[in-house]
Amino acid sequence: MDAISKVPRHMFMDSGFIDHAYQDKAFPISSGQTISQPYTVAFQSQLLNIEKGDKILEIGTGSGYQAAVLCEMGVKLYTIERIKELYRKTSVFLPSINYYPKKMIYGDGYQGYLDEAPYDGIIVTAGASEVPKKLLQQLKLNGKMVIPLGDDVQKMLLYTKISDKDYEIEDFGDFKFVPMLKDKI
Ligand code: SAH
Repeated sequence: MDAISKVPRHMFMDSGFIDHAYQDKAFPISSGQTISQPYTVAFQSQLLNIEKGDKILEIGTGSGYQAAVLCEMGVKLYTIERIKELYRKTSVFLPSINYYPKKMIYGDGYQGYLDEAPYDGIIVTAGASEVPKKLLQQLKLNGKMVIPLGDDVQKMLLYTKISDKDYEIEDFGDFKFVPMLKDKI
């Protein structure tokens, strides 16, 4: 995926880890979270079938790496983070390296972001133990949500909204994510 190669991953990590930046593995960022491995970022991004100008909601801003890849793909990005410190850091950092999400939100991703709904796509970047109903409701008709579902290991599920209350669900196999947690801290 082109967008991946355009984003300097080492800049999203604490300094001194350049050797690790381009290996295909997850890496710790602050507040006990991890930046996903590039393969997973590419995989999730591709499943959304993104077209330039699509309105996308990301749950779990984290380091901003996935957000930057989505910006490279030309989307209008809204991204939510529940940890204040990460939200603060990343909302300053992304513009400083010329990535401009439409809005970065400090809040609970389980609630989605109703002000800008509906979305062409929703990408959840933490492992959810249940599928957040509110997120499904905030999808456009034919919109897609990619979500890793499960507690210890997650199944990568792709929901496509085929009517007001019907979804097609596809399973893309096992992945490992940090848990999606309720409320903000
Ligand atoms: N997309 C990030 C991945 C970070 S790991 C990146 O590219 O770096 C997952 C992130 O989801 C963490 O930052 C974690 O704090 C956040 N998260 C967990 N539960 C959340 C929730 N309910 N709402 C919003 N963000 C959440």
